[in-house]
Amino acid sequence: MSNRFASARLIVDTAALVANWRAFGAASGVAETGAAIKADGYGLGARAVMLALAAAGCREMFVAHWSEVAALMPLPPGVRVAVLHGVAPADVAAALDLPARPVLGSAAQVAEWRTTGRPCDIMVDTGINRLGLSPAEAVSGLLDGLEIDTLHSHLACAEQPDHPLNALQCARFTALAPQIPARRRALANSGGITLGGEYLFDLTRPGIGLYGGGAGPGGVPLAPVASIEAPVMQVRDVPAGDSVGYGATFVAPRPTRVAVVALGYADGYPRGASGRGSGFVGGTRCPLIGRVSMDMSCFDVTDAPALAEGDLLTIDFDLAGLSAASGRSQYELLTGLGARYARDYR
Ligand SMILES: *Cc1c(COP(=O)(O)O)cnc(C)c1O
Repeated sequence: MSNRFASARLIVDTAALVANWRAFGAASGVAETGAAIKADGYGLGARAVMLALAAAGCREMFVAHWSEVAALMPLPPGVRVAVLHGVAPADVAAALDLPARPVLGSAAQVAEWRTTGRPCDIMVDTGINRLGLSPAEAVSGLLDGLEIDTLHSHLACAEQPDHPLNALQCARFTALAPQIPARRRALANSGGITLGGEYLFDLTRPGIGLYGGGAGPGGVPLAPVASIEAPVMQVRDVPAGDSVGYGATFVAPRPTRVAVVALGYADGYPRGASGRGSGFVGGTRCPLIGRVSMDMSCFDVTDAPALAEGDLLTIDFDLAGLSAASGRSQYELLTGLGARYARDYR
């Protein structure tokens, strides 16, 4: 990897990504397993994620915007892309130039796309009340004559297996599906795959779990995919009683060796990790001290005396732990990773 600048490294373990996709694939049974790679592959780099998953056999990619399709070009042989936001009037020209299908979610989108004569996917709303045709609209004749690749719906509460809305949405989709002449049906995101059985249909759309977030199917832990190493810009010795950082929230209880690293909330390292996060030097835990600021953070490296300026500090980027510490969801932690990292795909 090229690291011409002293920026933090975002290390993406593509073998772990593929292992997680295979775990969701196994749990998807006979359904084909796609991948949600919207929001730049949940912050990890959509094109690199697509290439790694395509090499492992993943054929169906999902993005939110047409601009995200453009960023994937050229597609590897056999890979297909669907655009979850469908097609807005402003997107039509770009959509006609790009090899992807819109997931049409309103009568207006259906009317607009029909004039192109091209295939599409359809989203029906079964209870989340975001995008999608109502089941009544879907069977009203509105879709007659369209070439529908995949009929989708999306679960509102898939991460809460006991929530009654799951079964209700599944029942509505099951009742609707035979009335729509689509090649395939798809309902499950990562959480939906974990619900198993009747939720799987013909195709699944896992996202967060591929990137190591949330629970694995059947409670099996997922492999962490993203890790961060941040360069030490300065090491300083702070006397007992002195404070460190904005707000002077940390006061050294003992003479403290402090590493100032180039990683801050502008890099998506959450400000809520202030006083709670950690770094590691080998096996030695180095607590984050004081406030995370925009471009830097400070760690107590008293117990790692060999750490020197220019070295890299491994940052604890355990999604579940950092989510609990910061109050930000695992989705936000991943998609909020900034643009300044040197990205290292392994
Ligand atoms: C984002 C998204 C997914 C993936 O959801 P995860 O919870 O990340 O697995 C699947 N389907 C749709 C329609 C989505 O918008």
